Amino acid sequence: MPDRKFADETLCLHAGQIPDQTTGSRAPPIYQTSSYVFDNADHAASLFNLQTFGNVYSRLSNPTNAVLEERVAALEGGRAALAVASGMSAQMTALLTLVNSGDEIVAARTLYGGSFSQMDVNFRRLGIKTHFIDPDDPENFRKAITPATRLLYAETVGNPNLNVLDIEPVAAIAREAGIPLILDNTVPSPYLCKPFDFGADIVIHSATKFIGGHGTSIGGLLVESGKFPWDNGNFPEMVDASDGYHGVRFFETFGDFAFTMKARMEYLRTLGPSLSPFNAFAFLQGLETLHVRMDRHCENALAVANFLQQHALVEWVNYPGLKENRYYDLAQKYMPKGASAVLTFGVKGGFEAAEKFIDSAQFLSHLANIGDAKTLIVHPASTTHRQLNEEQQRAAGVSPDMVRLSVGLEALDDIMWDIDQALHKAC
Ligand SMILES: *Cc1c(COP(=O)(O)O)cnc(C)c1O
Repeated sequence: MPDRKFADETLCLHAGQIPDQTTGSRAPPIYQTSSYVFDNADHAASLFNLQTFGNVYSRLSNPTNAVLEERVAALEGGRAALAVASGMSAQMTALLTLVNSGDEIVAARTLYGGSFSQMDVNFRRLGIKTHFIDPDDPENFRKAITPATRLLYAETVGNPNLNVLDIEPVAAIAREAGIPLILDNTVPSPYLCKPFDFGADIVIHSATKFIGGHGTSIGGLLVESGKFPWDNGNFPEMVDASDGYHGVRFFETFGDFAFTMKARMEYLRTLGPSLSPFNAFAFLQGLETLHVRMDRHCENALAVANFLQQHALVEWVNYPGLKENRYYDLAQKYMPKGASAVLTFGVKGGFEAAEKFIDSAQFLSHLANIGDAKTLIVHPASTTHRQLNEEQQRAAGVSPDMVRLSVGLEALDDIMWDIDQALHKAC
């Protein structure tokens, strides 16, 4: 690309791709191949030694996935990205690249349920301890750091609590401790929030949500800023000869994309959560309209939040784009273009009324997902958080009357009509 800083709208459509040199194909081709022919024995050897960049096997890299990686890295303002099979595997790959048995993580306790369980259950079984803290006060991150802490972890906007992280002071605490801040930026998408601008070091995405945008494909990405000083003494495995890949010294050899290379060659290669090129294509198609969709998602969500706030059958509304919301100022600072599509509200009448509301909706889809072009609804207390008792549910920020809404792109009047008629049937 020429020496110009292109806007997001342009990057969404062009970053990482030029028309195919051989065929002229304007759309990114789906390279549905498991492996790639070597030119000769020397070429094969230099590929395996990481002396030549190229493709060997699609578990490690694939040209369609590479377009997605470059496009998301460009949108985040990062140096490099790695596409993987899901948001959960993006988190797993990013974290395992940095933590080993005996190490510790400090993480927000408001994480997405699957993210919380990965650290609380799976990582604990591997000898990795996570301290879960209340992220509303950045000082809580500092207080939980020990000499064994390797990273700080949080969501830019929590799902489903919709708590907005004050990124800058948390990034400053990580910098002082010489460890990276890793942020899950799924709810805002790279269009609404740029964590690297505020000092984050690595960003995670569930591409399943707004990047794909149409509820069709599971996938994830990790992105690195390229600015973290891996040779600061805290990450010897980034500097020393690797026992996981031919004695490569990742930081010396790859510099500002050392983390991505280590994640790819030592973890994606051997643990194997690779993204299908077909799904990469679906995400690229999603990204082409990310900016248009996110603007409309935000506009519709704010209007629905205002509508619910004035509704006689609604107890409370939680949307960080509302002036009365406790995270409004943080949302304005970190997501000036809008506070995304997700909101929660309380149905008057509690648990039974909330269930009845869900069953009375005509076209709002009752399912466990966010970020679809269609409006989605779910009642966490009877579904995603069903196995918890009421006290545990409250600790997780889930009340019996709570409905989560991912506001879609249908006509605003129709969305409000369906909500209104369902509320009247429920209460
Ligand atoms: C959905 C989600 C994930 C998990 O992503 P998958 O693609 O479903 O594996 C992680 N974090 C957040 C914030 C999510 O919403």
